[in-house]
Amino acid sequence: MKRPTILVLGAGYGGLTTIVNLQKLINTHEAEIILVNKNDYHYETTWLHEVGAGTISPDKARYPISKVINDNVTFVIANVENIDVNTKKVETSAGEFTYDYLVIGLGFEGETFGIPGLKEHALSLTNINTARQVREHIEYQFASWILDEVKDDSKLTIVVGGAGFTGIEFLGELGNRIPELCREFDIPQEKVRLLCVEAAPTVLPGFDPELVDYAQEQLRKKGVEFSIGTPIVEATAEGVKIKKDEGNTEFIKAGTVVWAAGVRGNALIESSGIKSNRARIAVREDMRAPGFDDVFIVGDCAFLLNEETGRPYPPTAQIAMQQGAIIAKNIKHIMNDEPTEVFVYDDKGAVCSLGQEDAIGTAFGRKFTGKPASALKKVVDDRALYLVGGVGLTLKKGKFKFI
Ligand code: FAD
Ligand code: NAD
Repeated sequence: MKRPTILVLGAGYGGLTTIVNLQKLINTHEAEIILVNKNDYHYETTWLHEVGAGTISPDKARYPISKVINDNVTFVIANVENIDVNTKKVETSAGEFTYDYLVIGLGFEGETFGIPGLKEHALSLTNINTARQVREHIEYQFASWILDEVKDDSKLTIVVGGAGFTGIEFLGELGNRIPELCREFDIPQEKVRLLCVEAAPTVLPGFDPELVDYAQEQLRKKGVEFSIGTPIVEATAEGVKIKKDEGNTEFIKAGTVVWAAGVRGNALIESSGIKSNRARIAVREDMRAPGFDDVFIVGDCAFLLNEETGRPYPPTAQIAMQQGAIIAKNIKHIMNDEPTEVFVYDDKGAVCSLGQEDAIGTAFGRKFTGKPASALKKVVDDRALYLVGGVGLTLKKGKFKFI
């Protein structure tokens, strides 16, 4: 009898956790396991704010996938171009694949809500290359300002759209990096403007208000200005337009605009044949797609409602990794004609970094700020490495000086 084929798309937190668990549970005689990812490396999406600000190098935030998979897995480096769950065909730049079990873990894209000019003019922290582009763009603006005979200080203005976790973490890193850059480029630091624009009435909407106050105060000390309750409504090559009270607008000239105001699932989801909303699929309780018993969705492409609060769980690496582990088990269960397990999210809390030595967080029923919170964040980052690649990978790539 032919071995079933398990096809996993994407080697982010969700896809790679599925793979490392599958390779432990299922041997080559039982199934063919294929992983398709567009790069030969995995990147730590949760470190992209550091890559973008230039406080760590892009290489620090990635590792070869070959280091964490074994001979049970066939790894194909290819771009997924189309998924059709009705014909069970996946088209990629390396050819067409079919499957008995499909796991879609293609991650997120920035959500621009149709705001004019954002796609063309704003940068983002979506993957390792967009983060590298942010870093290099800021450095280019600094380098050209110093060469300009007639100086336009707006070149040194960095606008961050969105004060969710991504925007705040990026601003925290910039707070560390800007003084270094100013020294490197001989630029007086008072010429640099860091502006955070948030649509909601508060930064980090929904997070603990005491911790939010702490974060805002710490970032202010690093020179960050806040424009709160003022959505960005347009971006141009010159900067952004924000909406103020009573419908008035203001244009802010800026050399760099980074859009960090929300995410949606990978666009390929929308043509896959499965019902979705903002490219996220409302999964069943065992992580399978509605109506398709052979298709699992993991990570930011999955939508799960928290029955207690009636609100969706936020798309995070934490939940993606937990889902990956359960999906691997459920594939094994189905192959053994056993009932599948229900996914139950174990919320371990949230930590938002505010730069290299500062953070805020909630965990173990407590609130953390400052160095203890920052140490906790590094432990969380290292734990993700450990769960995928064990001690070896953690020692090689980890932020272990704090553990
Ligand atoms: P991803 O990690 O995005 O991986 C998707 C994979 O699919 C990538 O390897 C990509 O290359 C690949 N891929 C995409 N398209 C294709 C294609 N067409 N063909 C082939 N391969 C493709 N969450 C936390 O829990 N804690 C944090 O501290 C945290 N910090 C964050 C910091 C930042 C700056 C950002 C942006 C997000 C952060 N998050 C954090 C959220 C977290 O990173 C995401 O929820 C998580 O990455 C989702 O995992 P995923 O596996 O669904 O997708
Ligand atoms: P988000 O959706 O959490 O936050 C986006 C912010 O942008 C919101 O505050 C929103 O009000 C604001 N916004 C929306 N439209 C706007 C506009 N037109 N102008 C100005 N502001 C606007 O997105 P995110 O911060 O990218 O986070 C995405 C996911 O990743 C979340 O689930 C988050 O929890 C997770 N994440 C976690 C961490 C961490 O745990 N340390 C870090 C980064 C991201």
